[in-house]
Amino acid sequence: MRVIGLTGGIASGKSTVSNLFKANGFPVVDADVIARFTFQDVLKRGSGGWRKVVAAFGDDILADNGEVDRAKLGQIVFTDPSKRQLLNRLLAPYISYGILWEVFKLWIKGCNIIVLDVPLLFEANMDRWTNPIIVVWVDPETQLQRLMSRDRTSAQDAQNRINAQMPLDLKRSKADIVIDNNGSLEDLNENFKKILNHVTKPLTWTEFWLSRLGTIVAVISIFSGILGCKKLLARL
Ligand code: ADP
Repeated sequence: MRVIGLTGGIASGKSTVSNLFKANGFPVVDADVIARFTFQDVLKRGSGGWRKVVAAFGDDILADNGEVDRAKLGQIVFTDPSKRQLLNRLLAPYISYGILWEVFKLWIKGCNIIVLDVPLLFEANMDRWTNPIIVVWVDPETQLQRLMSRDRTSAQDAQNRINAQMPLDLKRSKADIVIDNNGSLEDLNENFKKILNHVTKPLTWTEFWLSRLGTIVAVISIFSGILGCKKLLARL
């Protein structure tokens, strides 16, 4: 199984590229969607995640019924980057588990090439599990302009959000494939077509053994080997 890692910086065009993969029939595991569901599940009153978050942020984030008051928690983490990082750290294991579960379901279905769309691929050390790693890159000015026009924010706010992330140039240096998204959407489509040839190359042996078919072949080979040995020993 080939697990393609797709990442980028805020407003670099990662979701746009993710949609191109979906439009071309690739199964995409979207970490943001999983994080949203995980957030709902994990913060249920009395659960392990709830206890961790209450221990870290205090009773003040609780509503009268003991549930986490999302608005209060949101206000804290969106105004304080260190608190946001703390919350991310607390919830990261649950999100990773959710992602792993989605990958497993696609493996069961027999998908050979899947895309992991993870904004924090490097920060969460998930790049270890993906190959190739695709980084969607834009220059700082384009990133700022696109973020401001997409989210209708001020330049200052947009710049603060960009600065709170790992530098996009650093992500680019860690990529196997860089998609330069400074041009038009047509240019992006062209770049995407070029990388499609690369990512749809035949599976390597390692990827084959990690696929469902490869595992079935391996299990059958091992069993027939054991049976063969038993027969041989019985004859001796
Ligand atoms: P990300 O998922 O990385 O945050 P998006 O895919 O949402 O970024 O792209 C950010 C914004 O830039 C969106 O409004 C998107 O429509 C726009 N955009 C993306 N690529 C291009 C492009 N090549 N030309 C013009 N606008 C683009």
